[in-house]
Parts: sequence; structure tokens; C-alpha cells
Amino acid sequence: MIDIVMHINAVRQRIRSATELSGRTQEPLLLAISKTRSPAELLRAYQAGIVHFGENYLQEALEKINALQAYPLIWHFTGPIQSNKTRRIAENFSWVHSLDRIKIAQRLNEQRPAELGKLQVCIQVNIDREKSKTGVLPEALPELAHEINALSHLQLRGLMALPAAEASPAQHQISFARLADLLALLQRQSLPMDTLSMGMSDDLELAIAEGATIVRVGSALFGTRIRNNPP
Ligand SMILES: *Cc1c(COP(=O)(O)O)cnc(C)c1O
Repeated sequence: MIDIVMHINAVRQRIRSATELSGRTQEPLLLAISKTRSPAELLRAYQAGIVHFGENYLQEALEKINALQAYPLIWHFTGPIQSNKTRRIAENFSWVHSLDRIKIAQRLNEQRPAELGKLQVCIQVNIDREKSKTGVLPEALPELAHEINALSHLQLRGLMALPAAEASPAQHQISFARLADLLALLQRQSLPMDTLSMGMSDDLELAIAEGATIVRVGSALFGTRIRNNPP
């Protein structure tokens, strides 16, 4: 078993260095992507100071949320969203990073329990125009953002992207810069958005250089995943 604490410290050091190098004063939030990881591994990460956890698969996530309900963890949903999953997402998560359709946004808005406050949401952008990839295309983003901003139980926070896996680091950095440009465009249209969810284990430095405010890190914290899906 790998030493999660040692890995967390190494990732924190990478984040600190990249933040200093980019001349920024505020470090991005470290969101631990915990898909396929056991509740015991998450608990160990929590004891080392990690509070925000991201999950991609609802059933798997609900089991962990239940197992760890004694701890004040903050849950982010980062996977593809089917309509029949929206209710339990609205009821169990603080954040959703992977919103890309108005129909899903409307369902989350209707189903968000009032006592939980607004659901914090990011729109996922298909920044590299990949076929069969979730995310809205850049030209359709402004209309979707304005529609989501009008929903009273959602708080539109920002944009999320997952650059093409096979692309080079230089291409990833260009994609991150494009996502930052899109956020700036929406901010000029008076949308009160402040979040860029971008950068993972292999490219978090490049994302921080382009303005990431949340980095989503899995394998660099928990070790290499044997599979991407739950068993
Ligand atoms: C798995 C995943 C990550 C983390 O990937 P690593 O390369 O393990 O850091 C980040 N974001 C999303 C949406 C993911 O599915």
C-alpha cells in the first residue's frame, strides 16, 4: 500500500511551487479524485488534511458518502450525468463539475433540497472538440451559461475541462489557456463566475500557470488506478 500522506505532501509541494512560479498569490483548491478508492483510503487522506473529494460514479459515491458520513467531507460530482441520476446528485453533493446540458441543469435545480443551499456548478467544456466526449462546445457555451445562471437553486461558479488524453503537454496548456479565455468572456458578459476546474496528476503545473482555481488530482495522491470504473 502506498503512503497517501507522503503523496499528498508531494502534490501540495507541486501546487505551491507552480503557484509561486506563476506569480499568483492564491493557491488552487486541491480536489482529491477518489473514484475506485476505498473509504479507508479516503479517510486516510482526510486525516492528512484533504476535505474535498471528487467522484465519477454515483452508486460508488453514495456508498462512500454513507460510510464516511461522520466526517465533514465536501463531495464533488465530476462524472457524466444521466437524467435518472440527478435527484441523488442534487441531494448528496455540494458541487457538480460536469454539467453540459440545460435539461440536466433544470432537473438538478428542481430537485435540490432547499435546506442544503445552492448547488455549486461548473459547466464542462469540450475544449478540444473531441467526438463522443461530454462537454458543451465553446460556441454553445454562452447561451448555456446564461440559462444556468438564471436557475435559482444552482450557483454557476465556473468552467471545467478534461483535455484530450493523447495530446501533448504543450497542447494541454493551450487548451487550459482557451478555457481561461472563455471564462473571461463570460465574466465580461456579467456572469459572476470565479472557478476554473482544470489540471490533473500529470498536468497540474500547466493548469495553474493558466489560472486553475481547482485542480482535480487522482493517481498522484492515491497511486495508479487499476481500473477507471468501479468493480
Ligand atoms: C479521473 C479523473 C481525474 C483525475 O485523474 P488523475 O490523472 O488520476 O489525476 C480528474 N478529473 C476527472 C473528471 C476524472 O475523471
